[in-house]
Amino acid sequence: MNVLAIGAHPDDIEILCAGTVARYAKQGHKVFMCHLCNGNKGSATHTSEEIAKIRRQEALESAKIIGATSICGGIADGEVVMDLTSRGRVIDIIRQADPDLIITHAPGDYHSDHINTSKLVFEAAYLANLKLWESEYKASTKLPFLYYMDTLAGINFSPQEYVDITDTIDTKIEMMLKMQSQLGWLKDMHDCDAPEFIRSVAKFRGFQAAVPYAEAFAQQKMYPQGLTKRVLP
Ligand SMILES: [Zn+2]
Repeated sequence: MNVLAIGAHPDDIEILCAGTVARYAKQGHKVFMCHLCNGNKGSATHTSEEIAKIRRQEALESAKIIGATSICGGIADGEVVMDLTSRGRVIDIIRQADPDLIITHAPGDYHSDHINTSKLVFEAAYLANLKLWESEYKASTKLPFLYYMDTLAGINFSPQEYVDITDTIDTKIEMMLKMQSQLGWLKDMHDCDAPEFIRSVAKFRGFQAAVPYAEAFAQQKMYPQGLTKRVLP
């Protein structure tokens, strides 16, 4: 399968679903990791241009750990809005990956960029298949399964399915450690120790699923995709 994970910012995939995409990669599936925003506001010390460059490099290094292809959507932080330009951009990202399955933010997450990424991906997942929606990329060839990943700290999220990430929790944390610029930022902004946060949430979801570490997901059920089978690893 081609698996496409789309997060709003460089680090969201690492925090919310990297254990699962690492499992997909291990199983030999082709994994694409996209951050829709360029990360240009995630610093108190660098300029926007500097931090965007640093975070792009961090995202590339994280994706490299599991042999995934990293895509940057190029939208400025805080500027993911529901308009035709953004819809077209997400369609083009989906077309580059031609995914069987897409993982993105849950519509009830905490940040407007996350919420709008979720909505844009929902719209674009169908439209990317339409040959008459013209763009520089060829129409994708499949209607992808759509899954929402956990929210930050699981707030407002009711899991439907779990993935056992016991074998990839260390890889997930290793990927997050590539986000060096964000470790201090998260500490300063939210007093959050990111590796500890990741391990604790995975342990909590693991308790729910009766395995050591897990990630939680909910499927966007829609005609005619994925109503009779599970595709998560
Ligand atoms: Zn984010």
